[in-house]
Amino acid sequence: MSAKIINGKQVRDEMLAELSNEVIELTEQGMQPGLAVVVVGEDPASKLYVGMKVKKCGEVGIHSELYELSAEATEQELLDLIAELNAKESIHGILVQLPLPGHMREEAVIEAISLEKDVDGFHPMSTGNLQIGEDCFVPCTPAGIMELIRRTGMDLAGKHAVVVGRSNIVGKPVAMLLLQADATVTICHSKTANLPEITKQADVLVAAAGRPGLLGKEHIKPGAVVIDVGSPKGDVRFEEAEEVAGYITPVPGGVGPMTITMLLKNTIDSARKALKIRA
Ligand code: NAP
Repeated sequence: MSAKIINGKQVRDEMLAELSNEVIELTEQGMQPGLAVVVVGEDPASKLYVGMKVKKCGEVGIHSELYELSAEATEQELLDLIAELNAKESIHGILVQLPLPGHMREEAVIEAISLEKDVDGFHPMSTGNLQIGEDCFVPCTPAGIMELIRRTGMDLAGKHAVVVGRSNIVGKPVAMLLLQADATVTICHSKTANLPEITKQADVLVAAAGRPGLLGKEHIKPGAVVIDVGSPKGDVRFEEAEEVAGYITPVPGGVGPMTITMLLKNTIDSARKALKIRA
């Protein structure tokens, strides 16, 4: 058996076309979605990511503003900028690129972003709302993972989902989303004993350990949906996993393309909420 490939690039392109239409519709009603992207320092990877985010905004018609602070900027300067953006009507989403330089407290910065504009979904209130099933912005990578699973057509109710990784940005939120979709969820981490025994029970296996090649054939139940979040190298040994799985995401071209797409979606949703409030 050879697994069906879940093509993240194709899903992204389909979604971008839908999102462009939504932006046109909102703009016609006088509410062009706006995203502020803030980066501090000169880290090349961070610069690359923010550049990609701004470019994609342009492609779907979202207004974007890029703020580049020097590595010497103080935490207070960043907090002042966030306060300004919180109050700015043309901005519906604020993204502060992480990691921040060591002299800045990430928690304080994230908490300063208003909940209404927390399109990254990292604010502790957003995390709490996700836990209790309240309306909130869902972190982009987990939201993208769920979209990819949805597009396989699998009904998650009653299925066993195993998530390898328990980070606050991927593992925990995706586990919560799988639970909300009525899957039975197991979360594994670096201290988990008998990893293959557990992952082999998974109807859906989400690999988010950041350990290239950690999972192979012996970890996968025949026919399972396998989502490999590992980047830039996959956590799953693709060639052998492909022989066993029912569906599988490649790396690159699986989860990766979804993250920015979901950021744009969250920004559009935020503008839509602002329009409702204005009406
Ligand atoms: P992270 O914060 O380093 O967390 C990794 C998690 O994996 C931890 O919970 C760790 O367990 C667990 N783990 C590590 N080694 C393990 C092992 N041998 N067996 C079982 N669990 C193990 O990483 P992250 O930020 O969640 O990211 C995970 C991966 O996804 C990385 O490759 C990252 O680059 C990628 N990623 C991709 C995207 C994207 O494509 N858009 C977005 C975000 C992240 P402990 O908690 O016990 O340490």
